[in-house]
Amino acid sequence: MRLRRRSRPVPVGNLTIGGTAPVSVQSMSTLHPARAGQLLEEISRLAAAGCELIRVAVPDQEAVEALPALVARSPLPVVADVHFDYRLALGALEAGVHKLRINPGNIGGADRLALVAAAARERGIAIRVGVNAGSLPAVFGRRDPAERAAAMVEGALEQVRIIEGLGHEAIVVALKASDVATTLEANRLMATKGDWPLHLGLTEAGSRNRGSVASAIAIGTLLLEGIGDTIRVSLSADPVEEVRVAWDILRATGIRQRGVTVIACPTCGRCQVELFPVVEQVEKAVADWETPLTIAIMGCAVNGPGEAREADVGLAAGCEGGVIFRHGEVVGRVSSHEMVDALLAEASRAAAMIDINAGAMLPSKKSIGQKAMNEEKGDSEDYRESSH
Ligand code: SF4
Repeated sequence: MRLRRRSRPVPVGNLTIGGTAPVSVQSMSTLHPARAGQLLEEISRLAAAGCELIRVAVPDQEAVEALPALVARSPLPVVADVHFDYRLALGALEAGVHKLRINPGNIGGADRLALVAAAARERGIAIRVGVNAGSLPAVFGRRDPAERAAAMVEGALEQVRIIEGLGHEAIVVALKASDVATTLEANRLMATKGDWPLHLGLTEAGSRNRGSVASAIAIGTLLLEGIGDTIRVSLSADPVEEVRVAWDILRATGIRQRGVTVIACPTCGRCQVELFPVVEQVEKAVADWETPLTIAIMGCAVNGPGEAREADVGLAAGCEGGVIFRHGEVVGRVSSHEMVDALLAEASRAAAMIDINAGAMLPSKKSIGQKAMNEEKGDSEDYRESSH
């Protein structure tokens, strides 16, 4: 993993994007702001899953009018997503949103952009400049990813310079395409042009399966190259799934730890239990746990005990049940039908010992190894990114 690119910190409500702030997870509501009750319920579910910033579409005046109450009651900072009409952007700023997402190219000319930038600057509200490959002139549709990426970066720089020229520097940049190669090229190039925090993601990524894989490759690759300050996985699915996949990417890249990592074997001819339902039930039960914990679920006594011992809590299944481990020690033997409950009970006990507020983790052997590696590099933080 490369050192994280240095970016300017941009405050967004109680969150900071960029600087030394952790890479944040965001999502976008599927609802019009006028549906306040349902929208707040959706935001609560997203927050419980680990979402840290919520974007809402503001397509009309009715949406603007619903924003003050939404902002006041939302547990997360609210980003207003505005296109075409600068008056909606001004209204959203007046309503107290914490960030504005606009495409300066379609907000209505330099004079109107100047009004929006001045209002945002006065209130200290960040503007996200978003350029999507889909909005490039049609001629770019057939160009290769590098050419399309260069055009996206050029477009973003033009817009950023206009806003900065108006005296507003709280800017986040997003460069998105529906394909991985263009997204990678565009963000790599943008990262060399200035210190604006970068919002990573694909646009129109697709269904949960296709979209998760493509997003993991694009976002994960950039994060491992040290690029990126906030991420949004965009799926044609419940936005809670976007947040779960985003955290899977952060955990898999080692960028941030939150919630439970379930390690499970693929099974083979040695496995004598129905392992997949066990994995499924455990994953479902711990989906919204916040405590960083590793649970290993292994299918046999050959390779299973090794992995199960390494995790915070582990199960090595056998022909008539399984052995439960906690931090490398055998803590129980259970029958097949007791496995899920016993594993979850042991995981609950392990989680209860972790004081996440004080940051006093009871680490797994793997996390001890990672921490030692980080300390060798002079990094004493739990989050590796904090040292960047
Ligand atoms: Fe097969 Fe055992 Fe390895 Fe699972 S842990 S894949 S059952 S050898």
